[in-house]
Amino acid sequence: MSPGRDLRLGVGDLLSRSGTRREVIRELTMPELEVSGSSVPAGATARLDLVVESTADPSTLAVTGTVVAPWQGTCRRCIEPIEGDLEVELHEIVARDPLDEEVWALDGEEIDLGSMVREALLLALPLAPLCSDDCRGPAPEQFPAVPAEDAPASVAGPPDDEPRLADPRWAALDELRFDD
Ligand SMILES: [Zn+2]
Repeated sequence: MSPGRDLRLGVGDLLSRSGTRREVIRELTMPELEVSGSSVPAGATARLDLVVESTADPSTLAVTGTVVAPWQGTCRRCIEPIEGDLEVELHEIVARDPLDEEVWALDGEEIDLGSMVREALLLALPLAPLCSDDCRGPAPEQFPAVPAEDAPASVAGPPDDEPRLADPRWAALDELRFDD
């Protein structure tokens, strides 16, 4: 079976009988999913290993399992390309009348698994990937890659003892004196 582009799963049987479940093991072709630092390339194959099961509530189903898809990106320190597999665990609830945004809506007697998978992958893509945890960047001597927590608290603006450049527009303010 060649991977499809969309995946809508009929779940009428699961809704009408509690204690039922169905495995969904298949491949799904992805459109490009992109965030600022990385993407799942267009046409990539996501591998789904999911279980859809009924719950105590006859209008609610649970979807759990894993989705694995290839991703690629650019190391934020050395700008080298990176690629790998993105593995996402799904723990989703689908309800006929979703009461909050975390819950997916049933579409009639179907679940839109394709949208669920695409959103999960999109949220899992790294925004600022590293080729390795100890990547030191292209020129570590010149531009040390200091972890954020070790960086000085403030690096903005000149030190206080350096004279500021006078801006003529602020000259009038400089004339003002405030009594202590
Ligand atoms: Zn790197």
